[in-house]
Amino acid sequence: MIPIFDAHCDALQRALDLGHDLGGETHGHFDLAKAARGGVRGICLTAWVDGTYADEVGASKRRTNALLDAADDLFAAHPGKLRRVDDPAGFDALPAGLIGCVLAIEGGHAIEDDLGQLEHYAGRGVRVMTLTWNNHLSWARSCRDGAGAGVPEGLSGLGRDVVKRMGELGMLVDLSHAGERTFYDALECAASPPIVSHSGCSALADHPRNVTDDQLRALKEKGGVIGIPFATAFLDEDERAAERAYRDTDEYRAVKGGDPTESLLLQGDAIQTALAPFPLEHVVRHVMHALEVCGPEHVAIGSDFDGIDRRPAGLEDASGYQVLMEALRGRGLDGATCERIAFSNAQRILSEAFGARIR
Ligand SMILES: [Zn+2]
Repeated sequence: MIPIFDAHCDALQRALDLGHDLGGETHGHFDLAKAARGGVRGICLTAWVDGTYADEVGASKRRTNALLDAADDLFAAHPGKLRRVDDPAGFDALPAGLIGCVLAIEGGHAIEDDLGQLEHYAGRGVRVMTLTWNNHLSWARSCRDGAGAGVPEGLSGLGRDVVKRMGELGMLVDLSHAGERTFYDALECAASPPIVSHSGCSALADHPRNVTDDQLRALKEKGGVIGIPFATAFLDEDERAAERAYRDTDEYRAVKGGDPTESLLLQGDAIQTALAPFPLEHVVRHVMHALEVCGPEHVAIGSDFDGIDRRPAGLEDASGYQVLMEALRGRGLDGATCERIAFSNAQRILSEAFGARIR
């Protein structure tokens, strides 16, 4: 099996909200049992903070810390399976059979405009943060429309300070969800090459969450990496239209869990059953296009497992990564290129960020 490093996974919310023990087999996309079958050696577990938490002072911090608590519980419960990695030597020092886990935050509103809070998260071991989620911040514009007054075109002065401080703290800047100007501003002031952890290629599917070929070239120029997602809506426009139509049905709307995390999980089961299998080929197309534009040292995988409802056929959960690798081999990629995409590009860019830390 080719070792896998998945640069973006939202499974922590299942641990926190549903009490799932990710150390074993669970109802969901990513857990350590499925990861073992899929050949996972590294994972970014992300504390995703819904934009609605930004509406109440203190709520984003509480949610982020609670998700990080869930991660700590997971590390404590399964020391023989999973180890937190937060320094440049971490992956090299990882014993065989253990999965290295890098903690991430999705949504810069988690810091509530406070560089001290960023330092607090770094102290808890967080080493990756997306500058924005889909909501806009007073210091950074997201990729979505509808930015109101007070939202800068790209990064504000505070936004630049956040990016610089992240560099000093050894944190990798993640530009998925960032607006285009935010993306270029961050490339300019980041201390180490950024990642776009879970975005597709605009050239193949026009979606605000995807990045243009110009952005891919700029990312490559800076030494950065793009993680191709399994989020079907980003990968094919026709399939996205079919999903939108299904999500608009009473059947889909009737699928509700006890909270948003359970609802997402159950909606995923429903859409997976209701629609025809999503062809894996679309994931392959985005990988191949990114390779063509950026070259083999700048492409990785960022599944977005447990943050999406519909998944590609064969990649329904973390046991399926090797199916993608086989498909890439089938397209003529050699073993060394597959290994880079699967693992070492993500490891390299994280290690560069860790190494930039001021000690
Ligand atoms: Zn995301």
